[in-house]
Amino acid sequence: MATSPRLAGSARTVALVLAVLGYRRQLRRRDHWSRPRLMAHQDRALAHLRRHAYAKSPFYRDFHADLTDAPLERLPVLTKQHLMTNFDRLVTRPDVQLADVENYLAALLGNELFHNRYYVSATAGTTGRRGILLWNFAEWVQVVSSYNRAFDWAGSTAGLTHRVKTAVVSSTNPSHQSARVGASIHSRWVPTLRIDSGDDVPSIIDRLNGWQPAMLIGYASMLRLLAEEQLAGRLAIEPQFLFSASEVLTDATRRLAAEAWGRRPFNVYAATETSGIAAECGGHSGMHLFEDLVVTEVVDDENRPVPPGEYGAKVLVTVLFSRTLPLIRYEMSDSLQLAAGSHDCSCGRPYALISGIQGRQQEALTFAAADGQSRTVQPLVFHHVMDSVTSAGWQVKQHGDRLEVLVAQPHNLDQSALAAAVRSALAAQGVQPPLIEVREVDAIPRTALGKAPLIIRE
Ligand SMILES: [Zn+2]
Repeated sequence: MATSPRLAGSARTVALVLAVLGYRRQLRRRDHWSRPRLMAHQDRALAHLRRHAYAKSPFYRDFHADLTDAPLERLPVLTKQHLMTNFDRLVTRPDVQLADVENYLAALLGNELFHNRYYVSATAGTTGRRGILLWNFAEWVQVVSSYNRAFDWAGSTAGLTHRVKTAVVSSTNPSHQSARVGASIHSRWVPTLRIDSGDDVPSIIDRLNGWQPAMLIGYASMLRLLAEEQLAGRLAIEPQFLFSASEVLTDATRRLAAEAWGRRPFNVYAATETSGIAAECGGHSGMHLFEDLVVTEVVDDENRPVPPGEYGAKVLVTVLFSRTLPLIRYEMSDSLQLAAGSHDCSCGRPYALISGIQGRQQEALTFAAADGQSRTVQPLVFHHVMDSVTSAGWQVKQHGDRLEVLVAQPHNLDQSALAAAVRSALAAQGVQPPLIEVREVDAIPRTALGKAPLIIRE
């Protein structure tokens, strides 16, 4: 019997919300586990994941050849390059091929699923080439639940059991996971206003004033900007919950938010590849790692473990619930620090704490504004424009009053349209757009450390 896609979509939303509510009960029970019990759970989940990968993924059978019984820390590191180059052999389902997923993403308009069953997200490409991830329904329940856990820990049952008016100021690009998660549970449970962080500030403020959200979620740089607008009297909202996701939530931003709204923001650490990895509880003594969902190894440039109390160069993540596209020791460029020694949180949760997280290798650029002052433009303004380009990577380089935009191996790039899009994004920030040159290159040049920063100043 044929059902309309719309009806199927709404039935799927109900099924998803119910499954997430059910899974939330399990997640809450784990908050009361002892640490040994949590570690035993992690070991079992890791063994399941590896058995699945070796049975279903030709790539992992080769990649871990002779190491299938070796401990996790002896396994090779999976980079985004590996993932994308070997996608069709790494994936555990024969009906999933990268070329088809790329075509689906290029035509994506809303919340339609790939092959009517897979939720797909593309990464923002913070280390060059964009990554593509996908999940089936059972995996997606865990993705959504991991984000929901952050709200739950903050004491908000918003989003699922109470109608809490929410505003999300982030990316509205449907290929981004945050937009995907929002769209997949958008329903009468979650009256949500989604605002694109690339929009101009007065229009963002108007819409927030009209909506009056009880819960506000945004990138750290956006929370800071909105707190300043609130203090200046142009923004007048009274959110009961503030969440910062993506980017570094600095102490200055925390103080500004507390001053503006009389509440402390809750920090959330998430990435497209892993979904939620860590979140703050009401103790505000750092973010607890979701060790039941993801194994997070803090390592140096040579992939050696970095002890608690010191910053690592990157993290290696193993997503314990990943099945369609298993991620085992996947490299991410975040630099973080685990809490040292007997640093506990009063809440009693068994999960390790992150005591610090540093920015990725990227910079905010400064430009002249129309009034002769200088104005700083945050990286996400460029991310927003560049994420619409299909390529093997990009870099925005400022040389004096010139801006060079490098695009590696682009697919059907219209150079003048891209230059115009960058120019108008800068104009929306109130700066005088510089001379913009778009260049196609074979690869984005790497630094001595092997990084390909997205945004640099020369
Ligand atoms: Zn805690």
